[in-house]
Amino acid sequence: MHYKNFVNATYAPAGYLNDNSIEQLKADIEQVGRYIKIDKIYLETYRSDILVEREKMEAVKALFIKHGYQVSGGITTTVKQTLMGSMCFTDPENRKRLGEIAAYTAELFDEVMLDDFYFTNCRCGNCIKEKGNHDWAHFRLKLMNDISENVIIKNAKAANKKVKMIIKYPNWYDSYQACGYNLEDEPKMFDAVYAGTETRDPHFTHQNLPRYLSYFLPRLIERVKPGKNGGGWYDLFECSLEDYVQQAYLTMFAKCRENMMFCMPLLVNAPPYTAAVGAVYDEADLFMGEIGEPVGIACYKPYHSHGERRLYDFIGMLGIPLDPYPEYPAKARIVFLTADAAWDEEIIPKIKQSLLNGSKVFITSGLYEKLVGRGIEHIMHLEITNNKITTDTFTNSNFNQNNCGYIKAAGQITLPHVAYNENDLWVLSSALTPYASHPLLIRGAYGSGSLYVLTVPDAMPDLYKLPAETLTLLRRELDLPVTLESVARVGLFLYDNNTFILQSFLERPERVRVCINKHGAAIVPLLKSQVGKIRPPEKSRNIEGESVFDVYLMPGRYAAFRIEV
Ligand SMILES: [Zn+2]
Repeated sequence: MHYKNFVNATYAPAGYLNDNSIEQLKADIEQVGRYIKIDKIYLETYRSDILVEREKMEAVKALFIKHGYQVSGGITTTVKQTLMGSMCFTDPENRKRLGEIAAYTAELFDEVMLDDFYFTNCRCGNCIKEKGNHDWAHFRLKLMNDISENVIIKNAKAANKKVKMIIKYPNWYDSYQACGYNLEDEPKMFDAVYAGTETRDPHFTHQNLPRYLSYFLPRLIERVKPGKNGGGWYDLFECSLEDYVQQAYLTMFAKCRENMMFCMPLLVNAPPYTAAVGAVYDEADLFMGEIGEPVGIACYKPYHSHGERRLYDFIGMLGIPLDPYPEYPAKARIVFLTADAAWDEEIIPKIKQSLLNGSKVFITSGLYEKLVGRGIEHIMHLEITNNKITTDTFTNSNFNQNNCGYIKAAGQITLPHVAYNENDLWVLSSALTPYASHPLLIRGAYGSGSLYVLTVPDAMPDLYKLPAETLTLLRRELDLPVTLESVARVGLFLYDNNTFILQSFLERPERVRVCINKHGAAIVPLLKSQVGKIRPPEKSRNIEGESVFDVYLMPGRYAAFRIEV
């Protein structure tokens, strides 16, 4: 291993291996080696009707081993000429072929990963018939369980008892169930899992991929199969240099065991990208060993759920560190829930129990709407009306204190108007339109706990426009050891050993105020060469039990710290 804190891996697709001579592959290894140190490569035997024959693969394996690489196998379960190349898995011919490919690959390698085309979107006559009266998700989840157990794993293990099978989960986690990716059952069958951390260009692409996903998904996958998340996988499709590097940062911040740069031919063809990540890894390896285990606000993403798609990732972009669970985090003192949680039939009693235990439960307006008629009104009553308002003006109001003044968002935001019973509930933050106000964050007591409802804008990215003061109020209610006072798009990554990382997703330099919930604390940079200055705040501020610092972050840059008391 070239790095102390992670394995750096890449992947070689079957077509690339078939199209290039051993001499050319050797030249490619040498070229890439000028820019980055690679520990491991997944050598693909099959993709889209292209198979690498045994003799060629043995020569390729020997070449990479000679150059110091660990080698594993890869399979992409695609065929030509279907939408996304997805296979029809009810076709007996495909099942047979897939079993043969799994066995063949396991003969060659002791570890094999399935690329994330391992799903089905087939609606052929036979699939329609086998689906019967079930919905597509139900049919496909069951179908892919069968393929995993009886086709892939059975044949692979029969060919090589020692083989370790890895399933890679794609970046589109809200849609897994629709295409048969079974996050509940398949990780139990496979030896390890792997997470897609490809967020590419989050700004102007058709897929909705907030950058925080590059951290959130591997953390969720780690919780699904603790200790067995093999790694995080990103690529450079549609990426600027900055996009590419930020994917690398977040994959590392999630403490993935392997960081996978897909794929070898892309690394060969894009030296500046390869070199940039090479420099990032050299630098990060100097401090990643000092970082503990990731922690944050417990949030809940039930298996096979979708509600407010990607909302957790947008919340993560607000400087709110999230810790995702596939099961309800019953012990957490603070719980954050989006409409995804409505998937759980028992969610109302679970929320009640958390509140009775004295916890704070934050829910979104989208979740509240979905739980109307299911008992949420017995916890507290309000109405998410169909009336919409559009504004750029907000205010905060703490009980017994004046409001914080009238603060401007970075643009117009459209929100649902929430109606509530005054004095039964307290509004902490409001959106204002002329002669009217509209709750943005509302709180009510239940037992010894508090339920908060956060009004979510119609367009989730409008959360990024919220004023710093509004976001800071929300962050303060979360009782974190580190609270940011800043605009959105500055990430906070918290660890269990008094360390934390700030990551700017902004295009401009930014002063970020960092509040540590201890008196007399210092923050010490983990990197000597860290770009970005730390200063005491310009105006002194006396909040008891708190230490405050201004950190000047470069655009797109991170800064890592240890808190010392
Ligand atoms: Zn079919």
